[in-house]
Amino acid sequence: MSYQALYRVWRPQKFADLVGQPVITETLKNTIITDQISHAYLFAGPRGTGKTSAAKIFAKAVNCPNVKDGEPCNECKICQAITNGTLNDVIEIDAASNNGVDEIRDIRDKAKYAPTEATYKVYIIDEVHMLSTGAFNALLKTLEEPPANVIFILATTEPHKLPATIISRTQRFDFRRIQPRDILERMEYILNQKDVQYDDRALRVIAKAAEGGMRDALSILDQTMSYGDDVVTYENALQVTGSVTTSLLFEYVSQVFNQDVKAALVSVRKIMDAGKDASQFIEDLISYYQNILLYKQAPEMVLEQELGIVDDQFKQLSTDANADVIYQIIETLNNIQQQMRYTLHPDVYLEVLTVKIATIGNHQGISEGADSQVIQNLASQIDDLKQQINSLKQGRAQSVQSTPVAERPSDVKPASPVSRPAAKQAQPTNRSERVNLSKIYPILDHATRKDLNRIQGAWDELVQNLDVVHRSLMNITKPVAASDSGVVVSFSYNIFYQKAINDRELIDAVGNGLDRIIGYTPDLTFVPEEQWQKIRNDYLIHKRTHRQSDSDQNTAPQSADQGPKTDHGDTPDSMADDHAVAKSAAPEVVTKATELFGNDIVDVKND
Ligand SMILES: [Zn+2]
Repeated sequence: MSYQALYRVWRPQKFADLVGQPVITETLKNTIITDQISHAYLFAGPRGTGKTSAAKIFAKAVNCPNVKDGEPCNECKICQAITNGTLNDVIEIDAASNNGVDEIRDIRDKAKYAPTEATYKVYIIDEVHMLSTGAFNALLKTLEEPPANVIFILATTEPHKLPATIISRTQRFDFRRIQPRDILERMEYILNQKDVQYDDRALRVIAKAAEGGMRDALSILDQTMSYGDDVVTYENALQVTGSVTTSLLFEYVSQVFNQDVKAALVSVRKIMDAGKDASQFIEDLISYYQNILLYKQAPEMVLEQELGIVDDQFKQLSTDANADVIYQIIETLNNIQQQMRYTLHPDVYLEVLTVKIATIGNHQGISEGADSQVIQNLASQIDDLKQQINSLKQGRAQSVQSTPVAERPSDVKPASPVSRPAAKQAQPTNRSERVNLSKIYPILDHATRKDLNRIQGAWDELVQNLDVVHRSLMNITKPVAASDSGVVVSFSYNIFYQKAINDRELIDAVGNGLDRIIGYTPDLTFVPEEQWQKIRNDYLIHKRTHRQSDSDQNTAPQSADQGPKTDHGDTPDSMADDHAVAKSAAPEVVTKATELFGNDIVDVKND
C-alpha cells in the first residue's frame, strides 16, 4: 500500500474545510452565489496557508453543476476530475519551473479557445512571482483583454515581487497565518478520523512549531507518527520539532534570572548536545518570556493558551520578574534570531546570547560602560567552560556519563593544549547542520538547465519509491541546481534538512533511486530552502569577485567553516584588525562578541 502524506490526503475539498481563513472563504462563496466572478484573482500569503487549495476549490465551485451555497458538490464528474487534476479546462502551472515567456505565450494562445467540458477555463499559476519579466508582460497582455470564460488565479508567497500593473488587474486576497488553535483542532479532527492515539501536549508543540502553516503542521505530524508507530507522543513531537521541554526551559530561564551565567551556559550546552535546534530554542525562549509577561498582565490568558506551562514554579518566576528586563530580553532574543539565520556557529551565538541576557538585570552598569570588569569575568567564564568542553570532546569515547560539564575534574587532558586561534575557529562542532559550500560551489560551477530538468523529471518517481520514513523526509524537497555529476536539493524546512544530512541510508537510497531512473548517481548536497537564495547570491558575488581579481591565488570555493561571505569579504585588512583586537588582551570570546553583536558590549573596553 503506497503511503500518502497527510497534507495530500487531507487537502480541503470544500471551503468549509479550509481552516483559518474565514473572511476569504466567505467572500469567495458569495462571489459564486451572486455570480460576480472576476477574470483574475491574486492569492497572497505565507506558505501552507491554503492558497492552492482555495484556488482548486474555487475552480470546482465555478464549474460544478450542483453547486450549493457556493460549495462544490465534490461528487459530479467535473468536481472529481478537478480533484484528480485530470480536467483539461483547469490548468495548474508552477511558475517556479515554467518561468519562460514561451509558456505564458502558450497560455495566451490557448486561453482564446472556449473550455471544452467545464463552464470556465481556470489557470492556477503557483509561485507567480517567479515569472520572468518577459513572461509578466505576456501575462499582462492577456489580463488586459481577458478572453470570455477564463479565470486566472495567481498564487504567491511574495506579492511584493509582482509588477503593480499585474496586481491592479486582479482581485486580491491576503491569506494570513493560521492560528495555532485552528491548526490544533484540525490535527485533532484528522487523528480522530484516523483513529490514531495522541498526546495533547504533542499537538500543541506541533501547532506552535508550524508557525501558521497547515501543510507544515501536517508534515511534522506525519513525521512524528512515523517515529512512534502511529502514536503521537510528546517526546517524539519534541524530537521532531527540535523543541525543548518546558522543564529545561524553566531551568535555563531561572538561571538567567539569577544571573548564574555559568549554570546557564551548561544548560545551553546540554540543550545543544541533545541535538536541539538553536533557532528553535530561541523561538521557544521568546514564547516562554512572552508568557511570563502575559501572565503578569492577564494570568487567565496564559492559562487558556498554554495549558502545559503554568505551575507553581512558573507563577513564582512570573511574580518575581521585572517586566522592563523581560522586554529587553525579548528584544535581544529577536535581534539575535535575525543574526543567527546564516551562521555556521549557532552554539557560539547561544553562548554569547546567554551572557548578554543574563546581564540585562545589571543593565545600568554595562550600557554606561562603568563596569568592564563584569564583561571580562563573564568572558573568561565562557573561555574556561569552553576549554573544559573541548577537553571533554577529546576524551569523548570515555565521557558518556552525565556528570555536569562544569563539575568534571580536569584530569582529561586535551590532545594538544596549545591554543591556536585559527585552529579553534575551524574546530568542528558536534552539530553537523552547516551547509557545505565547498560541495555546492563546484556543482554551481557546472550547473545546467538541462541537467536540472532531467533530475526534476525523475524526482517524483524517486520520492514515491522510497520507504515511508525516507519518503516523509523527502516529500517536500526539490532539486534546485544540477550539473552532470552533482545535484543540490533544497528542504522546505530545517528540521528535515538536519535529519537528512545525517542519514546515510537515505542518501544511499536516493543515489540508488537516481541511478535506476536516470542512469547515474550524482553527488547529493542538501540545503535548507531558507538559505538557498542567499547561497546562490553569495555564489554569484563570489564568482564576480574572482573573475575581477583574476585568480591571484586559488579559485577554490571558500571553506565551509568561513560561512557565507559578507559583502566586503575577508580582506587582509579586516583580518589584521581582528588580530589587533585579540592581542589587546581581550579574550577571544569578547572579540567574537564584537563580531556578532557590534560594539555595544565591548565598547566598554575601548574608552
Ligand atoms: Zn460537482
